[in-house]
Amino acid sequence: MRNWMRICSGLVVLANVSGAAPIERIDSLATEVAPAVIAWRHHLHAHPELSNQEEQTAAYVATHLRELGLEVQTGVAGHGVVAVLRGGKPGPVVALRADMDALPVTEDTGLPYASTVTADYGDKTVGVMHACGHDAHVAILMGAAEVLTAVRADLAGSVKFIFQPAEEGAWPAPAWGAKQMIQEGVLEDPKVDAIFGLHVWSSMPSGVIGFRPGAVMASSDFLRITVRGRQTHAAAPWAGVDPITVAAQITLGLQTIASRQVNILHTPSVVSIGTIHGGDRNNIIPDEVEMTGTIRTYDPAVRAEYHARVTRTAERIAEAAGATAEVYIGADTGYAATINDTGLAEEMTDVIARVAGGAERVKRDVRSTGSEDFSFFQQAVPGVFFFLGVTAEGQDPATAAPNHSPRFLVDDAALETGVRAMAQLAAEYLERHAP
Ligand SMILES: [Zn+2]
Ligand SMILES: [Zn+2]
Repeated sequence: MRNWMRICSGLVVLANVSGAAPIERIDSLATEVAPAVIAWRHHLHAHPELSNQEEQTAAYVATHLRELGLEVQTGVAGHGVVAVLRGGKPGPVVALRADMDALPVTEDTGLPYASTVTADYGDKTVGVMHACGHDAHVAILMGAAEVLTAVRADLAGSVKFIFQPAEEGAWPAPAWGAKQMIQEGVLEDPKVDAIFGLHVWSSMPSGVIGFRPGAVMASSDFLRITVRGRQTHAAAPWAGVDPITVAAQITLGLQTIASRQVNILHTPSVVSIGTIHGGDRNNIIPDEVEMTGTIRTYDPAVRAEYHARVTRTAERIAEAAGATAEVYIGADTGYAATINDTGLAEEMTDVIARVAGGAERVKRDVRSTGSEDFSFFQQAVPGVFFFLGVTAEGQDPATAAPNHSPRFLVDDAALETGVRAMAQLAAEYLERHAP
């Protein structure tokens, strides 16, 4: 029998039991820990923290992991927390990752545990909300840590729990989040052999898993184009060089990259201009226009191709008008495409189907043009990232408030599937790769 043990912080610990293979016991352990996971998620939801400010979240996580008896390291890449669980049998090292940061969004869900937190953001005061569901990721991974600790004796290897700060970005810092954790050695000592991560997603029903080998999320590169002309009276444009018409031509020209230049049968791609700023007055053509935007691709080669084509298109259109265009593409600050290791994804397909409750509850065609810095882990070790549906029964996932919306909702019932998925993937990976 498993016993519940209440400890001072109010966390719940499943007593260590041994006997059946861990794979069979994990599902019932996940069911038992689910009410606690829901409570942790509600607490985290009410106390969101912006990227690189996850101090209280990190302390909450670290306390839980220490009470489980794990080796805990804090202060990794800012507020990152890493814990190692060493199984009772020899084997490889598998990592599970959750991101911890919230967004500058003012919550409008009306939930009893809705956030009322505000924070300084740039020169403004903003509401702070777990509008991307990272609170669910943290609670799920806390639950998976608890479940796997309960079957520790039977695990064939080690599990590294990675609680990551600053997934949503901290530009213009030189590095943050996953990238910074890797630079600080999170994948070493013990060396990680494979990694799994999940994202809660509004566009699927609660508990349904979206999963596919290959690219699941896009690369994301910040784009800035500065067009320089020569200022003149707007009534006499021939006396100068108009950067506004050039900016308009560049905006349209960039759209021919996806539609005319890149093979659309191979992979989708997007370039969008989000801001255009230039001029101070209606009857003056300004010297300069600044545009910013984003480039999204699913393939490293296409990404590199885009960088060259965007630069060429902007520079040559400007040149044709006698202007110049200076193109900055922040590949150093951007995220690579999130590409699931094909072999590992195929190998784990049966596990995903089992935890989702059958192959019919797994969506294989899911892809997002959003981006994730989980991609940096995947560049270093084989990794699989999957989506967990969180739109409650009775609501249409197609019209549910999406991630980053002030009305984004996570169905509590999906959390148990998340715990089961993370714990089962880790245990199965270790079992299948044990010496
Ligand atoms: Zn997000
Ligand atoms: Zn997210």
